[in-house]
Amino acid sequence: MSNALIAIVGRPNVGKSTLFNRIVGAKKAIVFDQPGVTRDRHYGIANWAGPSFDVVDTGGFEPTAQEGILAKMRNQAMLAIEEADLVVFVVDARSGLIPADQEVADILRKSNRPVICAVNKIDGDRQEMHMHEFHTMGLDEIFPVSAEHGRGVSDLLERIAELLKLEEDDLEAEAEDELRVALFGRPNVGKSTLVNRLLGEDRMIVDSTAGTTRDSIDSVIYDEGQRIVLIDTAGLRRQRGIIANSSEGYSVMRTLRSIERCHVALVLIDGVEGITDQDAKIIGLTYEKGRALMILINKWDAVDKDDKTAQMVEEQIKLKLPFAAYAPVIFISGLTGQRVHKLLPTIKEVRQQHLFRASTGPLNRWLEDCLHKHHPPTNKGRRLRLYYVTQNRTAPPTLTFHCNHPDLVHFSYKRFLINQFIETFQLVGTPVKMIFKGKDNPYVEDEKH
Ligand code: GDP
Ligand code: GDP
Repeated sequence: MSNALIAIVGRPNVGKSTLFNRIVGAKKAIVFDQPGVTRDRHYGIANWAGPSFDVVDTGGFEPTAQEGILAKMRNQAMLAIEEADLVVFVVDARSGLIPADQEVADILRKSNRPVICAVNKIDGDRQEMHMHEFHTMGLDEIFPVSAEHGRGVSDLLERIAELLKLEEDDLEAEAEDELRVALFGRPNVGKSTLVNRLLGEDRMIVDSTAGTTRDSIDSVIYDEGQRIVLIDTAGLRRQRGIIANSSEGYSVMRTLRSIERCHVALVLIDGVEGITDQDAKIIGLTYEKGRALMILINKWDAVDKDDKTAQMVEEQIKLKLPFAAYAPVIFISGLTGQRVHKLLPTIKEVRQQHLFRASTGPLNRWLEDCLHKHHPPTNKGRRLRLYYVTQNRTAPPTLTFHCNHPDLVHFSYKRFLINQFIETFQLVGTPVKMIFKGKDNPYVEDEKH
């Protein structure tokens, strides 16, 4: 259904971030600010040939004298158990098994979460002999790896995929089913107030979703026969700030989990304070993950405004988040209820658009128009040729272009195509993905000017 989340834990210097970079690719990491840790948390999507999954490197920490390394590790492990589908516990073959490792292994073993122990720094056959001492930890899955040299890493990844029975992410298959919506926004932006208003008293049903790996509690609304699930909101409703108060502040893993589970993301922005970097990161993630998106400017009642303010705010957002121009921006007040009635119809519409499929005729006419409007780029005498386009999937609409030189498609041309697509087919709220496939075409020669 959705990407699984893997958390990497272990004490400082065992090689967690090296392993993370090896799995994800250093440049792809998304950094979250995290108070109280020496190194920020890194998040990324595993970049290998098998099914994709998400990885969080739980970050570094500096054990304080009174707290000690064990307390810190215990905390880190508990969080990972709570929030991830599988925990990769990294230990260091060079320093050997230390009591803190054993203690964490015990915690992990007793949780019912799948755990894989990666014994790192096994750079060659010679170091294999260090493996035996780690078998005494009592964990079933132990893999020798060298994060630095890549040794053993693909076996590790394969085993992760096997243990989690990972399959391709498929938001499409569930089209007829429920519509899942998640709310994001920093503490105090008004999430609980809005959820309470959306749920009202009469239409609230609380479901505890069985079968998911963690105990999230969703709320369900029926709107004109459509089942709409608000993800993990019962907690928000019950007690304000459950997310804000989790043991490490704003919970990255919970946020990722909710993005994974939703079709439509609602990002709340404080109308008085404006958009924050953290908001922008979450919006970026919803884009990466291909989720539909709505931006809600909340507390609109409290904003000092005139008839131009709304437009200015929209322009600011477009400037800060040019890639998310497809998202409708709605000015609301969860407190007074202003425009809250627009949300459910817009959510349903946005999800429809997320499932949009263009038929072949209009799609190829659209491509011809684009090629007329803006000639594909050339480079060193090579011209990009786009032969034809197909839409392979929806949720989000994903187009595959068959072309001569995919490397010639630069960012601005792709952005042009995406914008044209959204405009021509009048899409609202859904990102659009484009894939460029090279193919030797014997009938069309490269133009050389
Ligand atoms: P973290 O604190 O657990 O994230 O550890 P780092 O990834 O920052 O690595 C700590 C140190 O171990 C660095 O100096 C790495 O270069 C080194 N290191 C990481 N993986 C390996 C490995 O597979 N073999 C060897 N020999 N050194 C490694
Ligand atoms: P959460 O932490 O995101 O769940 O935020 P809450 O819903 O608990 O709201 C935080 C504070 O902002 C509370 O004091 C709310 O009364 C207030 N608040 C929420 N929505 C609005 C709104 O639309 N307008 C105004 N003026 N205040 C709001």
